[in-house]
Amino acid sequence: MRAVIAGGTGFIGRELVRELREHGWEILILSRHPAKVAAAFENGGVIGMPWDNGDWPNVLGPDTAIVNLAGENIAAGRWTRARRKRILESRVQAGQRILEAVEQAGVAPGVLIQGSAVGYYGPCGATPINEYAESGTGFLADVARRWEASTAPLEKQGTRRCIIRTGLVLGHGGVLSRMLTPFKYYLGGYPGTGLQGVSWIHLRDEVRAIRFLMENPDADGPYNLCSPHPVNFRKFAHVLGTVLKRPYKTPVPPFALRLLFGRMADELLLSGQIALPERLTKAGFAFEFPDLTDALRDVLA
Ligand code: NDP
Repeated sequence: MRAVIAGGTGFIGRELVRELREHGWEILILSRHPAKVAAAFENGGVIGMPWDNGDWPNVLGPDTAIVNLAGENIAAGRWTRARRKRILESRVQAGQRILEAVEQAGVAPGVLIQGSAVGYYGPCGATPINEYAESGTGFLADVARRWEASTAPLEKQGTRRCIIRTGLVLGHGGVLSRMLTPFKYYLGGYPGTGLQGVSWIHLRDEVRAIRFLMENPDADGPYNLCSPHPVNFRKFAHVLGTVLKRPYKTPVPPFALRLLFGRMADELLLSGQIALPERLTKAGFAFEFPDLTDALRDVLA
């Protein structure tokens, strides 16, 4: 079993590589900086290749899986026009390069796991949604739609394609590490009214779910990768504050968030989704961390 992972040096990718290697998968990581691969996986056993290396398509075949997680980080800075362009184009281009590689190889991969996010659904208020909900409005929904579509042509070539609409991933690093700072300074709270949905997943369950989909021959189509118990921001702040033994009740007004984060504040902080992992659960996936308190205790231990 061989997996080609685009974005395997990232927050999710590194943990996924560990999970897959433990279960006997050989790994090739596509990276803009293959030296990063050697640094991230010091004990070796993982091959890193630049995207433009003409050799990597030769590993493709029916027993190969591709996992497509590559893309400019969404939450790393203000959404200037230039960053918005990079966020979208880096994802669409990764998909196009995968299609080109498959064409060059003349053989399609057995399975492709296509990255996406619950932002696909746009702002949803307090109504719970499953994978059958329509895509919504806004920049993130547009990016997710076009990212998902970038590898869709592989389905016609017989590739089993699973789309992972992921919620906020909780692990060491990632977005959570940035959320901790105000709590550490006793200024913990929630954005706006705090009633916006937070669909979250423990990093461990994220990578277990990806492997589950890779190895389950009946899995295909979209899957929400988030805990069966989503919360709102008030509840999230309450649990985080309790676990950290810090206050959690300071509301941060929308104007302050817009001043700090620009347009990103409206889509990432002041609106959200209550997404349920209906298809994943029906397929028989069992979460190790369905409960937010347990998940945060584990991550912050
Ligand atoms: P990271 O930002 O940690 O990693 C993404 C990887 O993509 C990087 O390691 C990098 O690999 C590659 N990359 C970064 N910028 C570019 C670029 N401009 N062009 C091409 N490749 C680039 O992301 P995560 O691991 O956190 O997430 C993986 C995917 O899942 C992302 O696309 C993200 O949007 C999505 N997601 C993540 C969530 C989260 O909470 N973490 C939630 C929902 C969705 P290299 O430098 O080796 O090329």
